[in-house]
Amino acid sequence: MLPAPVMQIAQEEFLNYRNSGMSVMEMSHRGGYFQEILDRSLINIRKLLNIPDSYEVIFCSGGATAQFTSIPMNLLDENETAAYSLTGVWSNKAYQEAKRFYPNVVSIFDGKLSNFSEIPELTDLSIPKNSKYAYITSNNTIYGTRYSRFPKLSIPLIADMTSDILSRELDVSSFGVIFAGAQKNIGPSGLSICIIRKDLLHERKSAIPVILDWRVTAKAGSLYNTPPTYSIYMAGLVFEWLLEMGGLSSIEKINEKKASLVYNALDESEFYRTFVPQANRSIMNVVFHLKDSNLDSKFVEESEKYGLIGLKGYRDVGGMRASIYNAMPLEGVERLVSFLKDFEKRWA
Ligand SMILES: *Cc1c(COP(=O)(O)O)cnc(C)c1O
Repeated sequence: MLPAPVMQIAQEEFLNYRNSGMSVMEMSHRGGYFQEILDRSLINIRKLLNIPDSYEVIFCSGGATAQFTSIPMNLLDENETAAYSLTGVWSNKAYQEAKRFYPNVVSIFDGKLSNFSEIPELTDLSIPKNSKYAYITSNNTIYGTRYSRFPKLSIPLIADMTSDILSRELDVSSFGVIFAGAQKNIGPSGLSICIIRKDLLHERKSAIPVILDWRVTAKAGSLYNTPPTYSIYMAGLVFEWLLEMGGLSSIEKINEKKASLVYNALDESEFYRTFVPQANRSIMNVVFHLKDSNLDSKFVEESEKYGLIGLKGYRDVGGMRASIYNAMPLEGVERLVSFLKDFEKRWA
């Protein structure tokens, strides 16, 4: 979901943005109105994440998946290597994509051995020498796990934060690159945000496709080509919503509270269970199972009637998944908990 107050503002400004006589969708990306929207978005995400000046922030298109290609292409030269920690579907996809172009990249952790319930403690010792970077996915939507703490490494750490960016406080300076597709916690799909330590935007030996080249996008102030303008506008409204609420420390408290309501309800029950170890539990995606999986379809059907959408788990994992991103209000989670209890009472 997107925050209701943000959708309200977008609706009010939809036909005529601040007396411009145009919708944001109709504006030139090189005009004054849009430039101001873009500048304000960038200033506000810098404020929210307290991004040091030594980092560049750019808006890219192609979502998170485009970055799966961009990352190795911007950071590796032919025959160079990087280390991937595979904790779920998205890190596997990023790894497979990197390997197509740079066959020397390696996996340093494979979650498959623990049914993806485990998150590794990475140190320099776990990483082969010569690796140009280490790659992680901060939160795993499908398995409901996350890095509760991030590794401290001597090589640049690259993190796909698509599914938990802006959900908790973060020390940007311990990363080389942070990137996120917008559609989970930021705004409409198609847009991604990349936060790149400036020294990683160095000259490269080999040519790469211009649309994937961070340096080109950075040099042009995210306006090399026509960016997804409406998505950038919506992202900017979400940043303002978060700032007004008190920033990341405030939303983190709310997110912790939301997640613990659901996990407590699951832990107290004999009827439901969750396989994710306490230390790795995602506060964005709560993955759980009914002890009796014969009741799964009944559970999904009744929950939808009760206004709870999208609880059916990912096909490979089965069970249920409650996605409770930033925009999900506390009341939504309370409604889920009351449904969990009510369903148990009737079917246990
Ligand atoms: C959803 C998700 C993606 C996919 O993003 P696209 O914008 O569809 O490419 C990638 N990584 C993570 C961690 C995700 O949660």
